[in-house]
Amino acid sequence: TQFADIGLAAPLLKALAAEGYDSPTPIQQGAIPHILAGHDLLGVAQTGTGKTAAFALPILNHLQKINRRASPKACRVLVLSPTRELASQIQASFVAYAQFLRVSTTVVFGGVPIGRQIRAMANGVDVVVATPGRLLDLINQRALTLAEVELLVLDEADRMLDMGFVRDIRKLLSFMPKQRQSLFFSATMPPEIADLAATMLTNPKQVAV
Ligand code: AMP
Repeated sequence: TQFADIGLAAPLLKALAAEGYDSPTPIQQGAIPHILAGHDLLGVAQTGTGKTAAFALPILNHLQKINRRASPKACRVLVLSPTRELASQIQASFVAYAQFLRVSTTVVFGGVPIGRQIRAMANGVDVVVATPGRLLDLINQRALTLAEVELLVLDEADRMLDMGFVRDIRKLLSFMPKQRQSLFFSATMPPEIADLAATMLTNPKQVAV
């Protein structure tokens, strides 16, 4: 299977060529068609398998296909990540894959001043990549609303559990529309994680690598 065969738009194929990606990894082959078809997804995969592209590519495809602007202080896509390092990597991947698209992205995490993050959100943004604690701060300060989230990604769910973020995530879920597409990734599936996945997902397709 090639990227061209799984239904990605031309500007994404061009970006993949520019990045030197030759063919999709197993998680990409398994997940991308389901995500493009609008299904929720439960992905069991480790870092290093290409899982970031497995969700970022079909998300970007959706954003360019259904082209609308987020309202001020709103976003269309939310990606939750346990650490600032991972959040930054994910955002860099979105930027690379979106190099031939007009898509705005921003990353927010704690431990740095919040003012710049508030300003980055002011006009609305397509994709927000965030750690849960800082995201809740921004919502409490009315700098961001999750009321327009069309697509939610929870990455490294088992690390979220280890870091004590599950309560924050449940709180964040309560701010999002019920009608949305959700993608859930974890390297392992302990009962608490399976439980969280069950609350977040509707009839998910499963892909394990
Ligand atoms: P990830 O598992 O998302 O952290 O990705 C691991 C690494 O693989 C990253 O450096 C990606 O840029 C790279 N990568 C992801 N998909 C592909 C692909 N289809 N071909 C070549 N490299 C890839």
